Amino acid sequence: MAALSHTEEQEIRRQFQELLEGCTFIRSESDRSLIVRAFELAFKAHSSTRRKSGEPYILHPLAVSKIIAFEIGLGATSIAAALLHDVVEDTDVPLDLIRRDFGERVAIIVNGLTKISGVFDKDSSLQAENFRKMLITLSEDVRVIIIKLADRLHNMRTLDALSEQKRFKIASETIYLYAPLAHRMGLYAIKQELEDLSLKYRHPHIYQQVLQQVQDNEETRARIIDEFVAPVREKLTSAGYQFDITGRPKSIYSIYYKMQHKGIPFEEIYDLLAVRIVFDPEPGIPEKNQCWSVYSLITDLYTPKQDRIRDWVSLPKANGYEALHVTVMGPRGKWVEVQIRTRRMDEIAEKGFAAHWKYKNSTLQQESELDKWLKKVREMLNEPNADAIEFVNEFKMNLFSSEIQVFTPKGHIKTLPVKATALDFAYEIHSEIGNSAMAAKVNYKLVPLNHVLNSGDQVEIITSDKKRIQREWLDYVVTAKAKGTIMNAIKSENKHRTEKGKEMLEARLKEFNLAPSARILKKLMDAHKVANKDELYSKIGMGLVGLDDLQKILRKNTPNKWIRYWQLQIFGTKSKPSRDVQEAGDEAPTGGAPAGLAASATSATSATSAASTASAGDELPVSFRTARCCNPIPGDDVIGYKSPGGVVSIHKSRCPNAVRMVANHGDMIVPVKWTMSTILSFLVRIEIKGIDRYDIYSQITRSIAEGLNANIRTINMSGHDGIFEGMIELYVRNTRDLESLITRLKEIKGIESVKRLDIRQEEDTPE
Ligand code: MN
Repeated sequence: MAALSHTEEQEIRRQFQELLEGCTFIRSESDRSLIVRAFELAFKAHSSTRRKSGEPYILHPLAVSKIIAFEIGLGATSIAAALLHDVVEDTDVPLDLIRRDFGERVAIIVNGLTKISGVFDKDSSLQAENFRKMLITLSEDVRVIIIKLADRLHNMRTLDALSEQKRFKIASETIYLYAPLAHRMGLYAIKQELEDLSLKYRHPHIYQQVLQQVQDNEETRARIIDEFVAPVREKLTSAGYQFDITGRPKSIYSIYYKMQHKGIPFEEIYDLLAVRIVFDPEPGIPEKNQCWSVYSLITDLYTPKQDRIRDWVSLPKANGYEALHVTVMGPRGKWVEVQIRTRRMDEIAEKGFAAHWKYKNSTLQQESELDKWLKKVREMLNEPNADAIEFVNEFKMNLFSSEIQVFTPKGHIKTLPVKATALDFAYEIHSEIGNSAMAAKVNYKLVPLNHVLNSGDQVEIITSDKKRIQREWLDYVVTAKAKGTIMNAIKSENKHRTEKGKEMLEARLKEFNLAPSARILKKLMDAHKVANKDELYSKIGMGLVGLDDLQKILRKNTPNKWIRYWQLQIFGTKSKPSRDVQEAGDEAPTGGAPAGLAASATSATSATSAASTASAGDELPVSFRTARCCNPIPGDDVIGYKSPGGVVSIHKSRCPNAVRMVANHGDMIVPVKWTMSTILSFLVRIEIKGIDRYDIYSQITRSIAEGLNANIRTINMSGHDGIFEGMIELYVRNTRDLESLITRLKEIKGIESVKRLDIRQEEDTPE
């Protein structure tokens, strides 16, 4: 990058002097120093870069700050921020340095501008999410957007340097968002220039054509205007007014737009002439009255067109615009639109936001329409659910729409966009009124909620106690506020239904001593063909899924389960379980339940083929016990020793005692074998209550473990205030096992009650 030449540096300094000298409205020494320092930093930071056109880069921020100072009229903070607007983005000056040297406010604005700089830099189409980000900066400081507009304006003015493709892209973004944004900020002059420049680069031929026609007709137009203005000038002067009166040429874009969208030929559009009267109001008399006085003087000269009076003096536009427009029949049978404004109104119209703030504290005490709009934008931005693309569309909608004014039953004015419906109005009043709206009365006539309102309508909303929000309502409304509220209401309604459904299901399941486990829900979801549990709850909540067949659905599977137990086969004899036998199977049943506690004897009949030594026909079950000396567990090689009493004691094969017994009492030895077998078991649930003794939990678990052929599924015990409660689910093979367990639990000191609870469902799928 070529260093700056002496001439270039001189030119830069000259332009800066122009800026500084032009800022006569900035008098404070510190403000002026702020601008000088901002320039010096920006100059230094950009010193090695040039724009596409080849000119030194610093000329761009200089030009932007001139637009800010002279065309928009913002103060020292904004001018400094404009000078620095590309510094953080394009050079290595950190934001901290800006904050340190120029203060928090300038830093916030520069940061906002840095953040949004990438908004449109993608080569693809509009980056909706980025645009949203850009508007978020608006809630930080609205000057960010205004400086961004000035930046865009200067870029548009110097667009020639870019390639055709880039020109088209930038020009398109400009017409899509920047011009409407300028309009919404009340920056009419900038909006108009952006529109014209955009047209120039998007459709150069059309632009040239319209421009040519305008120039060809300029002379005639000027003559008619002069003719029209002369008597007005005289009359106003003799009435003592201080004023300017100008013929207002239409913008190229507005002519093109009307030709395009309304199918009106150039001549007809151009025929509509317009003049603007800007006067200095007399102090002490309301400006509104003075505007109407001027109106009266003009209509003394020319006949007004009755339906073409626009009174934005009594009711300013949402962007703050104030003026009185009237169309009158001028000389040579031509309609002329006359805009009547005070100096203040004119400044607001030309400089929009900036002027608006300037006058805010003096004349307009109440919250202006622009304030309200900014508030709305902030509300929209704070809407967490807003989809980015939807947001941009709605934002654009709000930018473009002109407003209608309607009245509440008490005569209060509400401003709504064109095409707003009764439902929009309801939501404008209050979100609760919207949510409970049923119908409306417009000018005392009953209408449906989607009735489109007209300016001047008096609207009354009829509500009902019950909320009636429907999804279709989203199609009824045009305001972002109504849309957002309806969306939220639908969402919370869904949430409400879901919660209600959940409560209903829980209550019903509780009747069966159940809680909504994943398995139960899965069964219900399958049975009712819903995709997820929220949908299930929601449908239950809405009554679309009944709970009457709950039992049937849950009963589809029995509470029974095939469980693998260790069994002890005692060949040639019948055996029955002994409570002394307790061994844990080391293979947990499928499903992760605790290992089965079972050691059982098979019946003799199941072992008939074995080389049985038992006497045939012995019908009595044989008791057995595991020997204390060697404590065999399932899987060990074991032998049985049948005592004279008939009880078989089980020893490990290599137990010294067993070896001795075999040696001495060989005839009393019975062959035994551990086997694994699968037995159908039944889920039972027992409830235990008692006094919360210090070791009661371990006693209970030990008792269950030592007990029967029980396979514990869940144990749940809790103690409070000296009382404890336990809920145990286990698989048993039959009621005898269960009863025996209950009996034993009752023997534990401190236990008050042991009760079997009904289970009427099953949560397990068959294995
Ligand atoms: Mn820039």
